[in-house]
Amino acid sequence: MPETPSETAAGQRGLVRPVPKPWIAAIHPYVPGKSTGADGQVLIKLSANENPLGTSAQARAARLGDGQGAGDPARYPDPESHALRGALGALHGIDPARIVMGTGSDELLHLAAQAFAGPGDEVLYQRYGFAVYEIAARRCGAEPVEAPDRDYAADVDVLLGCVTPRTRVVFLANPNNPTGSYLPRAELARLHAALPADVLLVVDQAYAEYLDTAAEDGALALAATAENVLVTRTFSKIYGLAGERVGWATGAPHLVDMLNRIRGPFNVTLTAQAAALAALGDQAFVEASRIHNRTERARFVAALEALGNHGLRPLPSEANFVLIEFSGALTAEAAYKGLMDHGFITRWLPGQGLPRCLRITIGTAAEMDRVAAVLRGLAEGAR
Ligand SMILES: *Cc1c(COP(=O)(O)O)cnc(C)c1O
Repeated sequence: MPETPSETAAGQRGLVRPVPKPWIAAIHPYVPGKSTGADGQVLIKLSANENPLGTSAQARAARLGDGQGAGDPARYPDPESHALRGALGALHGIDPARIVMGTGSDELLHLAAQAFAGPGDEVLYQRYGFAVYEIAARRCGAEPVEAPDRDYAADVDVLLGCVTPRTRVVFLANPNNPTGSYLPRAELARLHAALPADVLLVVDQAYAEYLDTAAEDGALALAATAENVLVTRTFSKIYGLAGERVGWATGAPHLVDMLNRIRGPFNVTLTAQAAALAALGDQAFVEASRIHNRTERARFVAALEALGNHGLRPLPSEANFVLIEFSGALTAEAAYKGLMDHGFITRWLPGQGLPRCLRITIGTAAEMDRVAAVLRGLAEGAR
């Protein structure tokens, strides 16, 4: 039997299986926060920045549906999430035409990179930035470029110094994960003003709702007027809907148009749209979550600062977690394992270049008391 032309061609090239693009093969998969120990033991999960208060009861009800709730699962969801975009627009004072929904903000971060960068281009972000940025850059064939940090935080001058003629997209999480650091409004404005007009600035506001309104970074206002700013937000954090996968982005119509062209046409499910819409309507839950976080984070940081003589240093955080640097006898790895022995899973980050750091999500008051007590015991026992 003669081989087909393509088999012949593949044989001549010596290829026996599909060849991935080198930029895809270079990706290290994202490592999600774990919820069980090595032996499968269920642990209290303080590793993924989820809401310890859970989800608004209204959102839970809408998700389950009560005849008129989420809708008929045999039918496709509204491909344009009209009701949800309308509610977001009303809440934030944004024209819904300037909002695009995503399967989590994760999808939108990838789409932003893909729409505006490719092979030969650079995608810039700070060292210790959100781990998805490197994957988003590589996924579209662009080169990820890490700007050095300043004591774990983003530095505008350092970032600007890394901009080259090949830079197409700059990602900035504000507040940042995993460091919790925050670029105030004036600094963000300075970054934007100095960036070339053809560089897309993506401000990832996954934790923005945890800020006091007075501390707002002004990114939404920039997205409303500038031609090159996209803001992403999520329902996964303060809204307590991580499992439903809903995020959104806003920016100039030409930016939103490009993301709409390449997103999944039915990327937000029926239940996700219904739950997110109801969650938006329950701002009392959001406010309670913000206050809980502010109170418990302050208490936890104070408890950690009392362990400063043992080499523990909580980095300043505006988010719903604290990154702790360990420089004494107790190492981050030992603290991670010790906390696990006491039933808590946290986030040790050697894979992100942070082997001396542990990221701990703010949980309930009782959980944070216990975590602080375990850390004290470990620190005092270490030598
Ligand atoms: C958690 C997080 C997100 C949210 O991702 P989703 O896909 O919306 O769940 C985005 N950016 C940062 C920095 C995060 O920490």
